[in-house]
Amino acid sequence: SQRTLVLLKPDTVRRGLVGEILGRFEAKGLSIVAMDLRTIDGETADQHYAEHVERDFYPPLRAFVTSGPLVALVLEGDEAIEVIRGLNGATDGRKAAPGTIRGDLSLSNRENLVHGSDSPESASREIKIWFPDLP
Ligand code: ATP
Repeated sequence: SQRTLVLLKPDTVRRGLVGEILGRFEAKGLSIVAMDLRTIDGETADQHYAEHVERDFYPPLRAFVTSGPLVALVLEGDEAIEVIRGLNGATDGRKAAPGTIRGDLSLSNRENLVHGSDSPESASREIKIWFPDLP
C-alpha cells in the first residue's frame, strides 16, 4: 500500500465540489489518512511547487492556490499514486478524458481542481510539507 498527497484546490471548495471529488476517491477504495481545510500563504505554495517557481505560469498559479481555502489530504491504497493520477486525468481540463475528475468537471489548465503527487519521492516530500507531524 502507498500514500500520496492530494489537494482539492480552491476552485473545488469555491464550486462546492469537495463531496463529489472526495466521493470518487472513497468510492475507488482509497483511505483517508489525514485531511485538513486550510488557506496557504505564498511561501508554502513555493515549497509545494518548488519545481515550477521559475516557470511563466507560476505567478498566476501561486495567486490561485493561495486565493482561498483548499483541502489537503493524505490518501492511502494499493498503487495510490498512479491510481489517483488516473482518476484526476490530464493536467489541462479541456483535454482530460471524460470519466476523469478534470475531464468531467474542469475547463481550465490552471483551475484544474486537484493535485496528486507524481512519484513516491514527490509524495514523501509533499506529505512532509503539508503534514509534518503525521506518523
Ligand atoms: P498537479 O501537480 O497539480 O497534480 P500536474 O502534475 O498535472 O498537476 P504540473 O505540470 O505539475 O501538472 O503543473 C502543476 C499545476 O500547475 C497544474 O495542476 C496546473 O494547476 C498548473 N499549470 C500547469 N501548466 C500550466 C499552464 N501551462 N498554464 C497554467 N497553469 C498551469
